[in-house]
Amino acid sequence: MNLYNRAPIAVESGKGVWLTDTAGRRYLDCVAGIATDALGHAHPALVAALTEQAGKLWHVSNIFRIPGQEALAQRLVDASFADCVFFANTGTEAVECAIKTARRYHHVKGQPERIDIVGFAGSFHGRTYAAINASGNAGYMEGCGPRLPGFVQLSVDDAAAIEEAIARPTTAAVIVEPVQGEGGARALSGEWLLRLRALTRRHGVLLIHDEVQSGMGRTGKLFAHQWFDGAAPDIMALAKALGSGFPVGACLATAEAAKGMTPGVHGTTFGGNPLAMAVGIAAFDTIANGETLANARAASADFFDRLEDLRGRFPDVIAEVRGKGLLIGLKMIPNNREFMGIARDHGLLVAGGGENCVRLLPSLLITPAEVAEAVTRLEAACVAARG
Ligand code: PMP
Repeated sequence: MNLYNRAPIAVESGKGVWLTDTAGRRYLDCVAGIATDALGHAHPALVAALTEQAGKLWHVSNIFRIPGQEALAQRLVDASFADCVFFANTGTEAVECAIKTARRYHHVKGQPERIDIVGFAGSFHGRTYAAINASGNAGYMEGCGPRLPGFVQLSVDDAAAIEEAIARPTTAAVIVEPVQGEGGARALSGEWLLRLRALTRRHGVLLIHDEVQSGMGRTGKLFAHQWFDGAAPDIMALAKALGSGFPVGACLATAEAAKGMTPGVHGTTFGGNPLAMAVGIAAFDTIANGETLANARAASADFFDRLEDLRGRFPDVIAEVRGKGLLIGLKMIPNNREFMGIARDHGLLVAGGGENCVRLLPSLLITPAEVAEAVTRLEAACVAARG
């Protein structure tokens, strides 16, 4: 199956923000595995954790206690609003668990009519059936059969429709990315998130944050919603940077929201396996320490200054600089896919995104010199894009 429009380079190795292809060319990596390699490539703490665990134990399944799971769950609980954690392998699986958690909550509360999951235009939650139905991009559903009942899409700008949907007695939960990633680095305001929190609470509707892309330090806080006091959800999906390149996903919830998630209701063979947990713990401890988050915030400020300056000098190439932390979007005037190729020819890897954006999603450990180098290469790409 040919499912990807792959860039015509074959990557062989990586160190920090640098990748080397099979032809020996080096690239400055501002894709980071689509916001996943939060600590860059071949981080020594992750390599050590994985290789040590590889010699000890790989897999036992979830019919036994797994000490690494308990340790990582404890860290996530201590650092968040949540009381409990389910480990999955991917972001999509974390979202599936979040949706089941929300519906099961209402089921065990004796309100089975509450099934609707309200999502937003431009959002991305994954590629399984529940996830494409929850995502706010009709293209993901095309040719995949009828829409499932119980999923509602709204515009983030339609305050009246949002209020009306949350007040409906059939609504189970609202799912939102605090910063839309695939949609093109669109950050929701604190005011918007707090209003959503207040409305969902008032009407007994659960709030799910999909922080698969925005979480684990990407915005300069451990979780994007932590920029705003009181914005925390009831349920949160994590993945990507949680394993910093190793497949790890998680669904976090308050004890109240998780009431319906009892043994037998959900499960996974591989989720939370000892290898994944060993890497997850090392990644968590490296990301959640103040230094990495401070570096991400400083690098972000540096990027935004330099990128605004670049936009000022290339208003015919870059229409807008947006996003939060190191989830940065450039709304392009030339075609974004073509621009990604031009940037690659200049030794810079950037990701695409909705609304004709290119995204810069580098390692949280990117240095000031590497930020400057990335923008220098971007500038060369802008010159070339002008033709
Ligand atoms: N939610 C969001 C916000 C994402 O950005 C992604 C991946 N881009 C997913 C869910 C799906 O994650 P995965 O590809 O790991 O299943």
